Amino acid sequence: MRIALIAHDEKKPDMIDFVRGRLGDLEAMEITTTGTTGKRIQEATGLDVDRKESGPIGGDMQIGAEIVDGDCDGVVFLRDPLTAQPHEPDITALLRICDVHDVPLATNLASADAVLDELVRQSEPDSQR
Ligand code: PGA
Repeated sequence: MRIALIAHDEKKPDMIDFVRGRLGDLEAMEITTTGTTGKRIQEATGLDVDRKESGPIGGDMQIGAEIVDGDCDGVVFLRDPLTAQPHEPDITALLRICDVHDVPLATNLASADAVLDELVRQSEPDSQR
């Protein structure tokens, strides 16, 4: 299982809390991240992550490409809905490509656990999917 973790600046503390709370499950997965989110996760938890470029300079698109290639099984993207982002077109493209490829996507903390739970379930040996 490979999961993408992305958080806008205002949501990075929430992402760190999420990763700390689910460290056991996340350690068993491959993790791909945008640049700054990955750096913060590594510093806070020591988790091994594959860091792409920072979101505003193309990191969201690199993760989108992983999804197109079938390499990413789920996405937790903690978006900040109250702050305008310079790379809004890239964000929209990432959300869209998750829908195109039917990849589980959480855009807030309340649904992040649900996506991770689903990936854990799928990785169990007797999983049907
Ligand atoms: P960042 O990018 O992890 O490099 O901050 C996230 C984003 O803004 O999409």
